[in-house]
Amino acid sequence: MTGEKIIKTFEDVWGDCLAIIKDNIPEQSFKTWFVPIKPIKLEEKVLTIQVPSQFFYEWLEEHYVDLLRKTLKSILGAGSRLEYNIIVENGQGHSSPYTINMPAVSNGKNDNIGVSLPMNLGGAIKNPFIIPGLRKVNIDSNLNPNYTFENFIEGDCNRLARSAGFAVASKPGGTAFNPLMIFGGVGLGKSHLAQAIGNQIKINNKQKVVLYVTAEKFMNQFVDSVKNTNTNDFVNFYNYVDVLLVDDVQFFAGRSKTQEIFFQIFNQIHQAGKQIILTCDRPPKDLKDMEERLLTRFKWGLQADLQIPDFETRIAILEQKMYNDGITLPREVVEYVAHNISSNIRELEGALISLLAQSSMNRKEIDLDLAKQMMKNFVKNSTREISIDFIQKLVCDFFSIPIDLVKSKTRKREVVQARQISMYFAKEMTKASLKNIGSHFGNRDHSTVIHACQTVNDLMETDKRFKGDVEELTKRIKISTL
Ligand code: ADP
Ligand code: MG
Repeated sequence: MTGEKIIKTFEDVWGDCLAIIKDNIPEQSFKTWFVPIKPIKLEEKVLTIQVPSQFFYEWLEEHYVDLLRKTLKSILGAGSRLEYNIIVENGQGHSSPYTINMPAVSNGKNDNIGVSLPMNLGGAIKNPFIIPGLRKVNIDSNLNPNYTFENFIEGDCNRLARSAGFAVASKPGGTAFNPLMIFGGVGLGKSHLAQAIGNQIKINNKQKVVLYVTAEKFMNQFVDSVKNTNTNDFVNFYNYVDVLLVDDVQFFAGRSKTQEIFFQIFNQIHQAGKQIILTCDRPPKDLKDMEERLLTRFKWGLQADLQIPDFETRIAILEQKMYNDGITLPREVVEYVAHNISSNIRELEGALISLLAQSSMNRKEIDLDLAKQMMKNFVKNSTREISIDFIQKLVCDFFSIPIDLVKSKTRKREVVQARQISMYFAKEMTKASLKNIGSHFGNRDHSTVIHACQTVNDLMETDKRFKGDVEELTKRIKISTL
């Protein structure tokens, strides 16, 4: 011990990191992947953290390396580094006393998993400029190579979409399926299938310029181009694209300028006989705030939906996942998971991962008991989280009050009531602090929120109609979060 002064201990540093990370990922992921980590030491700018297993380490590296790196950098500054200390299994179910150190590596390309740092936004399409005379520009396809046809399990739920996708992949621009519109609910495989088509086209023909872009990214880049007054370049850039995949076009709803530019680009590509593939979370006919002429085009080719997979398909998906990860699970566990998580493939995978993580952390075999235990938490946590914005919208719709008013200073009776009820629900149904709740209502302070909650409670006891309204609202909020 040299007795030199240490300004921040490794625990402090890690605590600071956690605070940032927590704000950037879903709570369930935070609990699963970050809470179990133990900081070990800090030397110079190298922070060492201990993780419970090799699997855990790989998961972090695959999904959170960017987040970790940026977070560490924001706390320790440039040149900071992370090292892992991995507890190694000795094969008999006990952890061996030794650990291995592993420097963090970065594959730099990980924006497809739930990490949403503001600094991640707009990882730009390369080279949005025309170089005269040069036909091919080196364009990064932005495709995730893990999404392939091989690992897209076929079932009744996706047969049409899958085979149409396959046809498009074999003959981009050369089928009647242009655009190919894949639609379906959250986590049913839209992005996977769209990217599988893109990847397959790259395999069939390396020369084809394929570009995958989310509707959100498209919009951000368009907005940037307006700021930089190079919208023409932005539009022209798409001349180079042979196959355009736009994910989640419902995002364009209500964004008329973006729709306008997308319409132009759509026509340009379509007229050139090139392929367009779109995904959407609902059938195009149900899209609101979308220009008619764009909707018409969405319906030109083929609309193919992805439905909820049946039990057999869910089992097949789980089995494939296990096979790829090199794990085996008792049949009854697989069936239990497939039985309990029935509406969303992403959640199905999430459950499997939680199961692995739990077993790895607790050093427990995965059996039906563990699965049941895990599922209790999982199902509870995976119900959609309610946001204060959502509550405000629901309450204001209910009372037919413009949402701006509950955030304003107005003391009009009906507005005050909607405001107080919204605050009450925000307190009851979200984990937001009083201060945070107040800030959603035109920066009111915490005592206003407390007062609102008391008022609502009092009125419910004395005013029958009021109580009825609150109960009806409670029902509506609960239903929409199932
Ligand atoms: P969406 O874009 O519709 O929200 P994703 O394409 O992101 O859904 O799919 C969610 C997860 O489910 C992904 O990890 C994907 O690989 C997986 N998945 C979806 N459909 C299938 C399938 N038919 N076979 C195997 N995995 C699938
Ligand atoms: Mg998607």
